Amino acid sequence: MIDGENLFDTLADKMRHVRGRLTPNYSMAKLTWFQVGGPAELLFQPEDEEDLAAFLAALPAEVPVMVVGVGSNLLVRDGGVEGVVIRLSTRGFGAIEAVGDNRLKVGAASPDKRLAAAALDAGLAGFHFYHGIPGAIGGALRMNAGANGVETTDRVVEVIAYDRKGERHVLSHDDMGYAYRHSEAPADYIFTHAVFEGPTGEADAIKSAMDEVQNHRETVQPIREKTGGSTFKNPEGTSAWKCVDAAGCRGLIVGDAQMSEMHCNFMINRGEATAHDLETLGETVRRRVRDSQDIELHWEIKRIGKFAPGAEVEPFMGG
Ligand SMILES: Cc1cc2nc3c(=O)[nH]c(=O)nc-3n(C[C@H](O)[C@H](O)[C@H](O)COP(=O)(O)OP(=O)(O)OC[C@H]3O[C@@H](n4cnc5c(N)ncnc54)[C@H](O)[C@@H]3O)c2cc1C
Repeated sequence: MIDGENLFDTLADKMRHVRGRLTPNYSMAKLTWFQVGGPAELLFQPEDEEDLAAFLAALPAEVPVMVVGVGSNLLVRDGGVEGVVIRLSTRGFGAIEAVGDNRLKVGAASPDKRLAAAALDAGLAGFHFYHGIPGAIGGALRMNAGANGVETTDRVVEVIAYDRKGERHVLSHDDMGYAYRHSEAPADYIFTHAVFEGPTGEADAIKSAMDEVQNHRETVQPIREKTGGSTFKNPEGTSAWKCVDAAGCRGLIVGDAQMSEMHCNFMINRGEATAHDLETLGETVRRRVRDSQDIELHWEIKRIGKFAPGAEVEPFMGG
């Protein structure tokens, strides 16, 4: 069992200079769209970049660290997360400002939707897709979030990140090593800001592209459910939802978790699901797709943390 009080007490002295909030045993279910999962041993919410760097520099090297955004792509296991979970606040990391022609500097805690709105105000096209993605910019930078034929990689110029030791790095677009829903940037990097660029556009056209994105989603995605968005990445040459459907898994239920009837690549917590239910459902779907179509689906949703004791989920194959 995770007990964050011990870690909290151990760190108290070392962290006197840190201004952000440190909370032991913070329920991760409160931080994710699925609303499942055990506690973070410690949750740290830094005040600003300087505070984040000071915290990381003072944190003993053996304590694991992970960063979360708004948890719209995360499945936190029932046994919780060891070490420190960092969450950037919109107060310290949510600003958006114009920085020269056609460019916006955006804090990693800014919701994607706010970037779409800021781009509209600035007369910049090509950001409309963010209007439909419910995450924050840090998650978009890590996941190369995209929709409607545009991805984060198409708009990013430069990214500011802090490593596990609290050292600051400036990454160029190429340093981010983007691929489909993936960045090659070192796994320990915490992105704090990024500069984005887009072509000039007409306000009416930008606005109607944003409206189209929203209207389309309302009809094809269960956006008001407890979900994590697309469960699996699209395999080469086809769509994950087609594979799930062809395997007869639309609407499939495990415990209180279900593959959505509306969009069968979305998993849903129907109310009382555990992370164990959701992960077992995902692995069941992967097996059925492999058995029926010889296609290997890979998780797009990030699964983090420990299984509850005695409730492990065996992956039926890697990935
Ligand atoms: C209804 C719904 C619809 C969705 N539609 C889409 C879609 O159309 N396209 C799409 O791409 N995604 C979609 N998603 C998935 C999700 O919104 C995106 O992946 C989003 O970018 C995740 O951002 P987040 O803030 O929620 O990150 P989280 O889910 O909190 O984290 C995701 C990953 O990003 C990392 N991360 C978060 N913040 C930082 C940071 N500051 N620095 C470094 N790493 C960080 C985390 O460690 C984790 O590995 C959808 C999700 C839902 C629930």
